[in-house]
Amino acid sequence: MSGQVSIHPVVDGGVRRGSGSFQGGTLTCACTDRPVKVRIEGDVAHNHACGCTKCWKPKGVAFSIVAVVPSDKVTVLENGDKLAVVDPSALIQRHACKQCGVHMHGPVERDHPFKGLSFIHPERFDRDGYAEPGFAAFVSSIIESGVDPSTMDGVRARLRELKLEPYDCLSPGLMDYMATWTAKRSGALPA
Ligand SMILES: [Zn+2]
Ligand SMILES: [Zn+2]
Repeated sequence: MSGQVSIHPVVDGGVRRGSGSFQGGTLTCACTDRPVKVRIEGDVAHNHACGCTKCWKPKGVAFSIVAVVPSDKVTVLENGDKLAVVDPSALIQRHACKQCGVHMHGPVERDHPFKGLSFIHPERFDRDGYAEPGFAAFVSSIIESGVDPSTMDGVRARLRELKLEPYDCLSPGLMDYMATWTAKRSGALPA
């Protein structure tokens, strides 16, 4: 049964709806000694499961759960000296804890439709109620992490059962958003 396919512990038991009034919270890394703490003001947007190989996920888990917030709503509160950018050449500047490896925030600073947004992992919040994941991105990419390609039908069936529509890139809404930005830049659409 597709129900046996694990997507991520946060959604495997069913997607918990957000409260609709989440005011933000504190993200904490996995360190017991001097954990990194990052304050997020307000709710997350575009929360989703991501199958890419770049996003942080717990060990042995196929998908990450990742969302965006405006970068000006992100404040490193404690132990920021433990953070380092995983790949400075990447679009998303993923700031990871050097000790435990958890990605704490990932701003987009380059000229790009996502500029001004930061990618975060809401499972690291100290409280529930954040906007729930609504789709699954880069689903085929889990194969690059070693998932058996023959299991993909079951993975996609389970994602649909959880109402996390599977896409092999981003969702149509986000793809359209990026294409619109590009068209306004090129003059194909009025700015
Ligand atoms: Zn840590
Ligand atoms: Zn990803």
